Amino acid sequence: MEYDRNQQKTVLVIGGGVSGLMTAWILLDKGYNVSIVAKDWAGKTKQITSQIAGALWEYPPGGCGISEIEVPVLAYSQLEQYQKWAMQSFLFYKKMVDMDQANPKFGARMITLYQFFHHDHSEAPIGGASSKTLETAKKHYEKYEKIHKLDKGEAFHSVNHDGFHVEWGYRHQAPVIDTDKAMEFLMKLVQAKGAVLETRDIKGDLHLHERELLDDFQADIIVNASGLGAHTLANDNQVFPVRGAVKRINIPHEFLKDNAVLLPQQYDASNRPSKTVFIVPRNENTLVVGSIVQRNNWDLNLTHQSPEVEAMWARATDFITHLDAISADMRSNSCRIVHNYGHGGSGWTLAVGCAWTCVKLVEKVLHEGKSGSMANAEIRGLNQC
Ligand SMILES: Cc1cc2nc3c(=O)[nH]c(=O)nc-3n(C[C@H](O)[C@H](O)[C@H](O)COP(=O)(O)OP(=O)(O)OC[C@H]3O[C@@H](n4cnc5c(N)ncnc54)[C@H](O)[C@@H]3O)c2cc1C
Repeated sequence: MEYDRNQQKTVLVIGGGVSGLMTAWILLDKGYNVSIVAKDWAGKTKQITSQIAGALWEYPPGGCGISEIEVPVLAYSQLEQYQKWAMQSFLFYKKMVDMDQANPKFGARMITLYQFFHHDHSEAPIGGASSKTLETAKKHYEKYEKIHKLDKGEAFHSVNHDGFHVEWGYRHQAPVIDTDKAMEFLMKLVQAKGAVLETRDIKGDLHLHERELLDDFQADIIVNASGLGAHTLANDNQVFPVRGAVKRINIPHEFLKDNAVLLPQQYDASNRPSKTVFIVPRNENTLVVGSIVQRNNWDLNLTHQSPEVEAMWARATDFITHLDAISADMRSNSCRIVHNYGHGGSGWTLAVGCAWTCVKLVEKVLHEGKSGSMANAEIRGLNQC
């Protein structure tokens, strides 16, 4: 019955990244007609952000913790909300891991993630991303996977931390996603389920194009999942780029085949923000090494020779020996746009949870006849999807 009702409605999703495709998948399964518009798609030649990503699932706040947690913007949600979204995604990726074991399609697998910290939180938690992460992660996450605190011997058994003041750590199982595979899977899946894809660059404020897009696609509502594109499309100055880079190399030794190593961005022993070390096996052959976190940098001109890329590589090789081998924006009652952007460095971690919230918002507008302003008030309090 609900499915039949939904078949009368069409949703236009803007964005062919993980946020747009996950949202489209849920909408299609609920019976909606879906069109997806994007100026770029994941592929072999041109790569969009969702494909470039690591992509490691992390319990929020993750590796980019300082930049995401310490630069709260108006539309910033509560940490607890990010954690809920992340756990929804976690359970989804676990299913994908099981599916992949029978028939490898999605490209998800569980690895052991070693997280290291500059301060010893076991004795005297100093606040900040890392200690909070462990406390709350234990509440949510230990239902599914055990979190092991590392003693110094174990923590540093397989890695060489000389030169780094690393005092403490823990390890747990975490999903890692081979984004080349997963994006291809998602693209094929939504098309097989009936989504119509169109390549189009929408210029300027989306509100100026709203009527024309709804007419063109005979759509009832628009979901804006345009990632950084939302800076212009949603005319949202709070959306800013966080430039990153990762290197992909062959896996140099056994330990790194199934183990990831992360030194999240945090305050170091001298209380200065430190840089990230991100070493993640994306599949049996490829190791992803990162990362750089540069706020407000729009340039796409990084090369292997860029000083920050060389520094990133040096941090990783120092750390591990042998390496060198939503908010809804409804300005008026008639507005038909729901936004799903602004995931920072955690788009894969939050993707599934945010997609579910986004679909709920779409349904609120489509079926509950909520006026724009009412929905807006409720939604802003709850989500930043
Ligand atoms: C180096 C790096 C490493 C990362 N590692 C991780 C990680 O380990 N774990 C994790 O969870 N996250 C990670 N991330 C973050 C993650 O990649 C992003 O949060 C996520 O990909 C955002 O997905 P998205 O679908 O919202 O946006 P995108 O992937 O950017 O997709 C946006 C889509 O919208 C389209 N679009 C934009 N503007 C317009 C327009 N005007 N008209 C039409 N279409 C438009 C684009 O063409 C594209 O199809 C990393 C990011 C980087 C850069």
